[in-house]
Amino acid sequence: MQTVLFHSTIFGPIHSRRLGSSLGINLMPDDGKICSFDCIYCEAGYNAQGHGTTGLPARAQVAAMLEQKLGTMKTEGTPLDVITFSGNGEPTLHPEFEGVIDDTIALRDRYFPNVKISVLSNATRLGSESVCRALARVDNNILKLDSTVPSTVALLDRPVDPSFDIGEVIDRIATFGSNAIVQTMLTRGTHEGITVDNTTDAEIDALIEAYGRIKPREIMLYTIDRPTPEISLKRVSREELAAAGARITRRTGIPVQISG
Ligand code: SF4
Repeated sequence: MQTVLFHSTIFGPIHSRRLGSSLGINLMPDDGKICSFDCIYCEAGYNAQGHGTTGLPARAQVAAMLEQKLGTMKTEGTPLDVITFSGNGEPTLHPEFEGVIDDTIALRDRYFPNVKISVLSNATRLGSESVCRALARVDNNILKLDSTVPSTVALLDRPVDPSFDIGEVIDRIATFGSNAIVQTMLTRGTHEGITVDNTTDAEIDALIEAYGRIKPREIMLYTIDRPTPEISLKRVSREELAAAGARITRRTGIPVQISG
């Protein structure tokens, strides 16, 4: 098993299953990981690998690197669909996240006005007004909700904060309503001898109730695509994802995009 870190602040563009031609922005270190979750499926590996040595890029550095990259891409005619914040951890943990988003919107408007800005977040920082203001300004505010069952969240996502409360997080996601896209990773396996499975009927029913309360613009269901730190985890078939998606849409009326 070999998980992969992104070794720069700006990376790509890469083809994303969910987002198209995507220029990535990693606000976390180049050689380590910082996240408020420690998901057993994280493509960047476990938090135990440490924070690395490079630290977080400052707001001004991010803007300068992004401007240089967008300028080059425009000159060369490189196609671009989306600028995506993801990378080696949780982007909203960056202390200047709101400012970075403002700069990114300004640069997008100048160089690629039709390109969308997406943030992939685990929704743990929605207690911050600054983070919420920033997320409200981006085109695709993509918030993670893998399960509503506390024991499953504890096994699958492994929140770092011992007082983490999934009910509170769902309430906070719901404040965005149709300004949010909810993404759910579906998988099953074992971790440290305990079965983990968020694909059961009970899990999907509980998710449907939460989706119905949140009323996001869209739900993204996906599954494992690359090596994961917990090697027992299994991909869910495309047919199973599609069946879960159809069931969710039937019950909530919310469109579901699947990838896997
Ligand atoms: S929230 Fe994202 S970055 Fe953080 S551990 Fe989970 S998959 Fe990895």
